[in-house]
Amino acid sequence: EHYERIATVDPAINSYLALSRERAMAQAERVDAAAKAGTALGPLAGVPIGIKDVLTMRGAPATAGSLILKGYHPPYDATCVAKLEAAGAVLLGKLNCDEFAMGSSNENSAYGPVHNPRALDRVPGGSSGGSAAAVAAGLCVASLGTDTGGSIRQPAAFCGVVGVLPTYGRVSRYGLIAFASSLDRVGPFTRSVADAATMLDVLAGPDPLDATSSPQPVANYTAEAAKPVAGLRIGVPEEYFGEGLDPEIRAAIEKSLDDLRAAGCSIHKVSLPHTRYAVPTYYVIATAEASSNLSRFDGVRYGLRAEDANTLAAMFRKSRDEGFGAEVKRRILLGTYALSAGYYDAYYRKAQQVRTLLTRDFLSAFTQVDAIVCPVTPTPAFKLGEKTDDPIQMYLEDIYSVAASLAGICGMSVPCGTTQAGLPIGVQILGRHFDEGTMLRVGAAVE
Ligand code: GLN
Repeated sequence: EHYERIATVDPAINSYLALSRERAMAQAERVDAAAKAGTALGPLAGVPIGIKDVLTMRGAPATAGSLILKGYHPPYDATCVAKLEAAGAVLLGKLNCDEFAMGSSNENSAYGPVHNPRALDRVPGGSSGGSAAAVAAGLCVASLGTDTGGSIRQPAAFCGVVGVLPTYGRVSRYGLIAFASSLDRVGPFTRSVADAATMLDVLAGPDPLDATSSPQPVANYTAEAAKPVAGLRIGVPEEYFGEGLDPEIRAAIEKSLDDLRAAGCSIHKVSLPHTRYAVPTYYVIATAEASSNLSRFDGVRYGLRAEDANTLAAMFRKSRDEGFGAEVKRRILLGTYALSAGYYDAYYRKAQQVRTLLTRDFLSAFTQVDAIVCPVTPTPAFKLGEKTDDPIQMYLEDIYSVAASLAGICGMSVPCGTTQAGLPIGVQILGRHFDEGTMLRVGAAVE
């Protein structure tokens, strides 16, 4: 049924880049046979799920939204992909995204933009635009995305679905094509908070194949999400409600705070004083790490190799010139500059120091409150093409999402209303490191 729906609905949305029909049907039959035989089934038995195309899936192409990986078929599954399948999920295929997860609108994909299912002339957000759109359009029940500086939370808000950014280290990144390694995280998109908790139950936990995955104990997220919120202290950071915030979004967040108050939470003002440095700090660190990670795409090891190059150096140059899109090249240039001798201390080191200040802001706020509630984005989904000519405008989209990324804390976006024009609005909930349980509880209360 999902494949039929994809065939009729997806041409207008462009969320899937590849379908893994054979693998999906084989898994569906296995689950069906197990059900008939009365064998115990996994928590995701038979659930159709889509995978962002920056994660590897054996037998399917992995493009990361880039031409430079065209033709690359990874021979192994990302750990999160393998975990979903082991829990019974039916993996439908690979989902469109911004090239190497760089972007906020999915317009940086080499395979065309994704259209927002709630308003086809609008962007779905990015970089996990395909993952959010596919869930919103009923083209899968849940999906995997990645979030380096907002790429799960922002598209979830734009498409009206739930998106979870687990704590850094909570979910294995083995098999994730790296963008910025100190920031990249994998997380789920779903249509409800309870579904997100189920997904996290399956995904969370240490992985011997990922040294950055954490041995911190994993909670039962389904049980945590179902607990009442009465007595929880909710923080509202004044820095997230300043100029530039759309009034309809502000009103929707205030309504969520009223709901929490009615459910027995206390609401407190908190201050995150370094917030205004978050966007520049993020764009120094993310581009620096990207310039390093992307040096592996040289035309030799993966995907595309330019023709008509007479020397090895020319082959590297031509392959990278033809394979990378404009935004990726811009970031390689920015990041290489920030890391170069003489500039390292002024940019990269300085950004790391400011990152510590941003993290301390959150640690101090979390001594006073149990969770933080704020907007995900300053505006609802914008029109396709509206911001493509101005990278700075596009980067400012990330104003409410990147601080949590830099601090490594968990976060999520939950639908909390629509604008008069019918566009979805999301509310962001931020939690302490490894306290996804409390975050999900608050999420379920504002849903
Ligand atoms: N929009 C941000 C960027 O372009 C975040 C992307 C992401 O989280 N992958 O870098």
